Amino acid sequence: MFTAFLIKYAEIGVKGKNRYLFEDALVQQIKYALKRCEGEFKVHKTQGRIYVDALTAFDFDETVDNLKTVFGISGICPVVYVEDEGFEKLCERVVQYIDDVYPDKNKTFKIMARRARKNYPLDSMEINREMGGAVLDAYPEMKVDVHKPDIELNIEVREKIYIYSEMIPGPGGMPIGTAGKAMLLLSGGIDSPVAGYMIAKRGVKIDAVYFHAPPYTSERAKQKVADLAKLVSRYTGPIYLHVINFTDIQLYIYEKCPHEELTIIMRRIMMRIAEQIAKETECLGLITGESIGQVASQTMHSLAATNEVCTMPVYRPLIGFDKQEIVEAAEKINTYETSILPYEDCCTIFVAKHPVTKPNLNMIKKHEKNLEEKLDELIKTALETDELMIVQCDR
Ligand code: ATP
Ligand code: MG
Repeated sequence: MFTAFLIKYAEIGVKGKNRYLFEDALVQQIKYALKRCEGEFKVHKTQGRIYVDALTAFDFDETVDNLKTVFGISGICPVVYVEDEGFEKLCERVVQYIDDVYPDKNKTFKIMARRARKNYPLDSMEINREMGGAVLDAYPEMKVDVHKPDIELNIEVREKIYIYSEMIPGPGGMPIGTAGKAMLLLSGGIDSPVAGYMIAKRGVKIDAVYFHAPPYTSERAKQKVADLAKLVSRYTGPIYLHVINFTDIQLYIYEKCPHEELTIIMRRIMMRIAEQIAKETECLGLITGESIGQVASQTMHSLAATNEVCTMPVYRPLIGFDKQEIVEAAEKINTYETSILPYEDCCTIFVAKHPVTKPNLNMIKKHEKNLEEKLDELIKTALETDELMIVQCDR
């Protein structure tokens, strides 16, 4: 019965001359999400509101599920359009609408009319009153409540007349493309996909980098990361995933540095490489899935040591989250099942039995001097052999 959706968005921060940028980005992201759905749609802005009109038959649940992936949408209202065939006919349609949507009539309601087309014979107050009466005549068990009704029945008089009363919550946030771009360090774990999702939710476009260490990490491990990027791209749009071959660097650290410092030194080099790619691709920051105290390399001391190599801001949206909270977020965005597949991770293969939890930066820097001879060359080679995958979600 529904033929369209009214898209509600939070208006905080989108007043004034930035508003159209926000709206245009939102329209574009809605179009991107709808490409994955059966049917054809028209997305349009009419008098400061965004509507999705179905031009053909469509699958309601599939369409709503996809609209729920668009950041910036705070609510999705399914709309019925009716032709203007006079007020009496309109009341009949509204009575029918109530029957279709609310089989249980034991509810309070309020009519909220908006007369956007001023030549309509009744003004909004008159519509509210007359239509309220018609509904009460049809369903005597219903009651009017103008303060806190169960049903807010919106009637918008435009070229056609729009009827809607339900709002399905959207993801909130800001549309992708309204806030620049950042580079996500994406591993195969649970945390980093969630971290990318959270930053993207603020409107940030995401690129990603994965450090791969063949043959210690398999093709399947790499495929898993690409699969995760694909799941995240449902929300973020296409992701440019840089796969960096990290094997020689890792073996070199293993050979030259104390094993309890391996993870920290490796993380520092990953950050340096990620930052270089980020700079070349116009990213304004790095994103990781770190959370204080989760593992030895994420104590405050370790994070300070890792962070020390970066000149760009590093966004760590999970910093104060417990593992359980991260797992719940991963389940919600549908990355959890893929994240827990048991393929090896380059960090776990070279991990020491007793990694330092309070690295001393001077010691780390001293030991990194052991890498002086070849490290720059190895980083250069790793960057030159960057394998770029463009990952996007189809259906
Ligand atoms: P996750 O669950 O995100 O995989 P993790 O629990 O494995 O993280 P660490 O291995 O300490 O934790 O990694 C911390 C962060 O460093 C990750 O969230 C990710 O952002 C980044 N990272 C770790 N390994 C890699 C890798 N191989 N490629 C890209 N980024 C990585
Ligand atoms: Mg982690």
